[in-house]
Amino acid sequence: TRPLLEVQGLTAGFLTRQGPLVAVEDVSFHVGVGETVCLVGESGSGKSVTSLAIMRLLEYDNGTIFGGRILLDGTDLVTQSQEAMRRIRGRHVAMVFQEPMTALNPVFPIGDQIAEAVMLHEGKGRAEAWARAVEMLRLVGIPEPEVRVRQYPHQFSGGMRQRAMIAMALACRPRLLIADEPTTALDVTIQAQILDLLRRLKAELGMSILLITHDMGVAAEMADRIVVLYAGRVVEEGPVDRIFERPAHPYTMGLLASVPDLDRPRQRRLRAIPGSVPSLDRMPRGCRFHPRCPYAEERCRREEPPLRPWQDGHVACWLAEQVAAQAAVPVAGGG
Ligand code: SF4
Ligand code: MG
Repeated sequence: TRPLLEVQGLTAGFLTRQGPLVAVEDVSFHVGVGETVCLVGESGSGKSVTSLAIMRLLEYDNGTIFGGRILLDGTDLVTQSQEAMRRIRGRHVAMVFQEPMTALNPVFPIGDQIAEAVMLHEGKGRAEAWARAVEMLRLVGIPEPEVRVRQYPHQFSGGMRQRAMIAMALACRPRLLIADEPTTALDVTIQAQILDLLRRLKAELGMSILLITHDMGVAAEMADRIVVLYAGRVVEEGPVDRIFERPAHPYTMGLLASVPDLDRPRQRRLRAIPGSVPSLDRMPRGCRFHPRCPYAEERCRREEPPLRPWQDGHVACWLAEQVAAQAAVPVAGGG
């Protein structure tokens, strides 16, 4: 598929009094037309910084892009003015967040907030924009949309609020939807409904999705391809089936082991990954994963492994061959 979004060598983070704090370094990946790509990793891996950088919302969070390019259909978002970005956000790329209450304005009816985007981006009049708001609420499965459109966010349940947020994000039919942990705050049943909704809308509207999640179960269900981030670096990338069947990075293996309901050969399980993601100002030398890695050897402590082509994707591990061979233990121990 043709790339819709191309992130090339993105380095981003925060300017502090002590100097620049790099949260993601040299991150590259792409999202094809009509594709769902999941950006996975524990909290602190740089997933949200990456998504906020793509939206150019990082600046509003004291963040900054230090380098790299973010091409959306060939246009570099990094060099756009914030004024230009206001026109691009919503119309070409839109975002939904984990907690829709932070993105919805509590003092305006839901319909107003959807209609506003339609008026801004498409220059429609009020009546037409309201009609679109009703249509969008219906599209995302909110019952009685003509009534609901006049209600306020607090009158919606958590699941319905997330649906409304998705309706708002998609009101102007952006080609790319970025969803940052969109179901993490919801209970399991509602989570499944929202994921179903995203899948259906993707098919109906022909958009691409960049889904950010710490949950490999969600990624398994949703992704065409998976990009694994660790400590601000891409450590592995590839098609969902290959990643699940034959991970080549010990961190990916660890993430897979944390999915409780996948029937996986025992040998592949690291159980929990010991330790935690290093803080930005204390990045380990060499491979950033080495303090937590069961495979680490001397070289890993000295030299950072480059991201290199691996099968139909990429991996950054000195011992990927060995790791992948171990990961590909035959199911049911037959042979
Ligand atoms: Fe582990 Fe070494 Fe690979 Fe890093 S490079 S993930 S420490 S084996
Ligand atoms: Mg996050």
